Amino acid sequence: HHPARSTIWVGKPGRQVPVGPATFTFIAGPCAVETPEQTLEAATMAKAAGASLLRGGAYKPRTSPYAFQGLGRRGLDILAAVGEATGLPIVTEVVDARDVAEVAEQADMLQIGTRNMANFGLLQAVGESGKPVLLKRGMTATIEEWLMAAEYVAQRGNLDIVLCERGIRTFEPATRNTLDISAVPVVQATSHLPIIVDPSHASGRKDLVVPLSRAAIAVGADGIIVDVHPDPEVALCDGPQALHGTDLRALAQAVRQIPPLL
Ligand code: PEP
Repeated sequence: HHPARSTIWVGKPGRQVPVGPATFTFIAGPCAVETPEQTLEAATMAKAAGASLLRGGAYKPRTSPYAFQGLGRRGLDILAAVGEATGLPIVTEVVDARDVAEVAEQADMLQIGTRNMANFGLLQAVGESGKPVLLKRGMTATIEEWLMAAEYVAQRGNLDIVLCERGIRTFEPATRNTLDISAVPVVQATSHLPIIVDPSHASGRKDLVVPLSRAAIAVGADGIIVDVHPDPEVALCDGPQALHGTDLRALAQAVRQIPPLL
């Protein structure tokens, strides 16, 4: 029932970053927080490239239970310290309703990942957290199911929701998921909520992050969220999709070339 598209503000008073139609928000950072040094280096790279929000996973929802699961509370402390040092508000994933209060204490924005988009208890808990929510699309969810997931958050009184298209599962194996770029204008025609794109998790390939970011900009997304790592070859999580060096500079250039709003 909103007549105009919404802008969501993320961060502490005086340092708030907008996500919405009047701007293009560039979010970057490591897929997983590994060490204070790695997180600070990734954040410094992200900031130098023009990012205004820092991403980083402390609680990692991995497909395999034997894969690195994140540093948990210690990862959160590291991310918060790096956010403070760089002046970048932080967005991090919460995977369990029991952790929401603890994560909300430190994070400026709570991320719900693709695997938890339909975890209704978790959606209700972040709806009561008082923090903006980054709601990723379930990898097998229709747009309507995704918007209904957002309603679970909104129903608890939290309208500070940003949607994130991060690819859906199709028959095509060339990319990890298929970026559904049409979701951006479809959502914008249906919902007042901002929508950003995650080309890193959509493709799983760093060589596709810049072209898919350009596509996100061209289609009118309100921002992008990308993985960066100081040494992708040794990353503990999703190294093949993490940007470094030249790629990040190309991305920064693409973001700077955004045409002015009509
Ligand atoms: C992430 O952003 O760290 C992540 C795991 O993304 P997704 O839930 O889209 O796979």
